[in-house]
Amino acid sequence: MKIYSHEKQKLHKPKSYFSRGQMRQPQEMPERLTELLKAPETMGLKVTTAKEIGIEPILAVHDFDYVEFLKHGYEEWMALDEEMGEEIQTTIYVPNNNSGLGILAKAAMYQADGSAPIGKHSWTSIYWSAQTALNAADSLLDDEAEQNDIQICLTRPAGHHARKNAAGGFCYLNNAAIIAEHLRQKFKKIAIIDTDMHHGQGIQEIFYDRKDVLYTSVHGSPINFYPVVAGHEHEKGHGEGYGYNINFPMPHGTDEVGFFNYVDKSISNVKLFNPDVIIHVLGFDVYKDDPQAKCNVSTQGFKTLAQKLKALNKPMIVLVEGGYCIEKLDENLQAFLSGLISE
Ligand SMILES: [Zn+2]
Repeated sequence: MKIYSHEKQKLHKPKSYFSRGQMRQPQEMPERLTELLKAPETMGLKVTTAKEIGIEPILAVHDFDYVEFLKHGYEEWMALDEEMGEEIQTTIYVPNNNSGLGILAKAAMYQADGSAPIGKHSWTSIYWSAQTALNAADSLLDDEAEQNDIQICLTRPAGHHARKNAAGGFCYLNNAAIIAEHLRQKFKKIAIIDTDMHHGQGIQEIFYDRKDVLYTSVHGSPINFYPVVAGHEHEKGHGEGYGYNINFPMPHGTDEVGFFNYVDKSISNVKLFNPDVIIHVLGFDVYKDDPQAKCNVSTQGFKTLAQKLKALNKPMIVLVEGGYCIEKLDENLQAFLSGLISE
């Protein structure tokens, strides 16, 4: 087992978060990573600093112009003649029929909602979050990789809501999609299993018409809950991808037993697919006291979750994504890691 992270992921510090009719306190803060990093330290597990792999695997998934916006949009925003806020944050959302001329039009095109502002150092963190994930993928591409090797990536900002060409839901680059695509160099069949509180509609969209990447997700019902527009059971894929997108929306208020019933169904589908490698999108926002939680997973539950995934006995990359009960991230990650280590 190897754990990857990078300190530069702490530079992104959102100041604004507009959602459901009001400005709210940003939840996806650098302190989250500080807390996550305490877990391996307490357990005596080494954290490897990610090395740079580059922009190419990112551009294999995301549109070039969108990536340019993430990289350089901030300078363009600050260069406007009028007084702008300290980060790119739009109130105009027009993804189509938009010329993209001018930074305000670009923001309208590339920001899908009010929860993904872009500040001075955002790109650095976004880039290193993707690089951290890519380090795990690269080590599985290595011929020396063991059959049931498990790699953990402590990443922020998260990725599963990011579309090919839009940021949203605290996400900018879709790390799971980027590494799935990168892993295709060697592996034919990849399963992405998402247990974050929210449906990863970005991953779903990117692989919707493909059968080489299975996406299965357990999440809170999207009815009046983020991402609100996707995550229903009837979304099963398109064309040859039909049947390779499997959603398990949980009724809000589902208890821990209920959560694991859905996880077991999701895992059964992964077994049936028989992938060469598994990517697990792990969200600690299913934790019972998380401000985003619509279900009731206990700290012990994360150990159980890890044991169930380990039992699949496949090479696996775990991307730590959501989780906003900051004071419990350390303990909950320790529980998860202990499930991977235990026999
Ligand atoms: Zn989430």
